[in-house]
Amino acid sequence: MKVSILGSTGSVGQNTVKVLQAQDVTYDVRVLTAHSNYERLAEQAIALDAKAVALVNEAHEDALKDLLKETNIEIFIGEAGLAKAAQMPADWFMAAITGMAGLNPLMHAIAQGAKVAIANKEPLVSAGRLVLEAAEQSGATLLPVDSEHNAVFQVYEAANHKAIERIILTASGGPFWNKSLQDLEVVTVKDALNHPNWSMGNKISIDSATMMNKALEVIEAHYLFNMPANQIDVVVHPQSVVHSMIEYSDGSILAQMGASDMCTPITNALGYPKRLNTPGQKLDLKQMKRLDFEDVDNEKFPAIKLAYECIEQGEGACIALNGANEVAVSAFLNHKIAFLDIYKIVLKAVQNRPSADIQTMADVISYDKSLRKLAESYIVSKPVVKTATH
Ligand code: NAD
Ligand code: MG
Repeated sequence: MKVSILGSTGSVGQNTVKVLQAQDVTYDVRVLTAHSNYERLAEQAIALDAKAVALVNEAHEDALKDLLKETNIEIFIGEAGLAKAAQMPADWFMAAITGMAGLNPLMHAIAQGAKVAIANKEPLVSAGRLVLEAAEQSGATLLPVDSEHNAVFQVYEAANHKAIERIILTASGGPFWNKSLQDLEVVTVKDALNHPNWSMGNKISIDSATMMNKALEVIEAHYLFNMPANQIDVVVHPQSVVHSMIEYSDGSILAQMGASDMCTPITNALGYPKRLNTPGQKLDLKQMKRLDFEDVDNEKFPAIKLAYECIEQGEGACIALNGANEVAVSAFLNHKIAFLDIYKIVLKAVQNRPSADIQTMADVISYDKSLRKLAESYIVSKPVVKTATH
């Protein structure tokens, strides 16, 4: 099987490499892509005997060429190079770029009619309808990798779609679940990056701390499983053992459980419909003293409620939520705004967004751009200096 990894140097990308290497068969690795980490990209390409690599950041072109000079690995550079890489024929893609930057390569992979394992949730939030339509047209199979959506996918009975009463997404609550609103005013970037259960890229780690991650996931589930907002629930489950559930009309709740290790959903998506071996952790049930489930605290974490409102308001609102969040998270990571400003900026952008008529992917892209500008205008440029009081 020919496989390609879009975003191979990130957290999901590296786990995907690990999963590929752990299998008995040798995969025919076509292309690996990265934004800037040319050293890891070169290392992965050599280890997997990849046919090509794509590096977006042109500044490292020479250094990458130098590292690969004794190989026949083809090198693509820049945005155009990334697009070319995603157009190289493959049977299975991992879409693991972060943010809307992954949209264009994702669409190229889908256009091939391939199996597309999709971790990259932001394009689904902003363009879910169009992404699913494109997959329908090309015959591509979308395989959810986000752990909650992979869980739902595993317990989803297509023939009983009408008997689904609720999709129940679990949320760990993130690093700040037990903090007070007052505490949240002074948390730092370092605190926010310190997730209790999962080790992930910076952007999704901040999203987990604001619980915007779960907000994005509600919208992601709405599109992936064609489910109205009022049939999607979120429950906080601090142990991250039950990765999500479906409740059927007969009262059965089917759950998928496992360790908090992305190797499981990645292995599932690689093998589908077969089951392969994971190189990751397995769950030891005897170590689990208890499993807790509680309601979301909408006062401390208002993002989830906003996601429901955005689904009701339509695609323009979802694009605004996602685009403004990407801008605000990046500002927070660069120490330009405080933690609680992230949500404030997102809310303001959603509320003040211009009206939108989203028909095509070009509409999504231009609306997303204009919303990012709007969100940027809400960022006060002076750095926020906050000192923790406790
Ligand atoms: P990451 O930041 O660790 O890695 C991102 C990858 O995308 C890297 O290879 C990077 O080089 C590449 N990239 C970043 N910006 C790019 C750009 N502008 N153009 C091209 N390539 C670019 O991110 P991650 O944690 O692996 O997450 C990837 C995606 O998967 C995100 O959408 C995230 O929400 C989703 N996801 C991640 C996890 C997880 O455990 N990390 C779980 C579920 C879903
Ligand atoms: Mg998730």
